[in-house]
Amino acid sequence: MSKKRQYDSSYIKYGFTEIEINREIRSQCVICTVVLSNDALKQAKLQRHLHKVHPTLKDRPPEFFERKCKSLKKMKLGPSGASVASSQQVLIASIEISQLSY
Ligand SMILES: [Zn+2]
Repeated sequence: MSKKRQYDSSYIKYGFTEIEINREIRSQCVICTVVLSNDALKQAKLQRHLHKVHPTLKDRPPEFFERKCKSLKKMKLGPSGASVASSQQVLIASIEISQLSY
């Protein structure tokens, strides 16, 4: 049995949150939503991602990433499970229906 790496809540300072995929904890970038392998669940790799991919954000405080993380999770867990795009389509459809009735 290989020892699985665990997400540490301090990793948010590198812009990473945890996500469970196939019963395995992985790290997900809250900026570009990329999911890294479990093997990448170490500070150096997370830090490297932040510095290479989001160099302009490396000096942001952890609160910045926490806010990003919250809106990311909210996006995924909508009340109806519908994405923003599809609810806009529903709105357009209902406008069309109301126009037809005139
Ligand atoms: Zn990223």
